[in-house]
Amino acid sequence: MEAQLASEPTSVPDLQVGLYQIVDGHPRLIGNQCEECGRMHFPRHEWCARCCSPDLTDVLLNQRGRVSAFSWIDRQPGDAFIRAPYMQAEVEMPEGVSAFSIVEAEFGGLKIGETVELALRNFDTPDGCRQAFVFRPIQRQGGEQ
Ligand SMILES: [Zn+2]
Repeated sequence: MEAQLASEPTSVPDLQVGLYQIVDGHPRLIGNQCEECGRMHFPRHEWCARCCSPDLTDVLLNQRGRVSAFSWIDRQPGDAFIRAPYMQAEVEMPEGVSAFSIVEAEFGGLKIGETVELALRNFDTPDGCRQAFVFRPIQRQGGEQ
């Protein structure tokens, strides 16, 4: 069963353009892969980070990845529009790249190796409402945490 997105995916401008697209109603990160050496990249590169080839092909990444590192942020960064406290994490995608963003988890509520999935959220920024990707833990089986 799929959870509902918090907002209409197409109604709000993106905070950063070109990081994801909506596929069958679900956001997917867009990476790219080098046609010469096979290296994957996220975000997309213009040239391969390993062999410098410009021959790169877009790849839609999996909706889910695993938390490889996280940090609880309880002080408001000076110029940030995201309100502390919040959890930020590095998420390893099955394709071998990592994505860095907010995870919708409480303090103490996230584990290394936990599976999270991509979601879109709206944020108030100095330029108005903008949409960005976050991660959220998938519902644990059995109910109790
Ligand atoms: Zn390459």
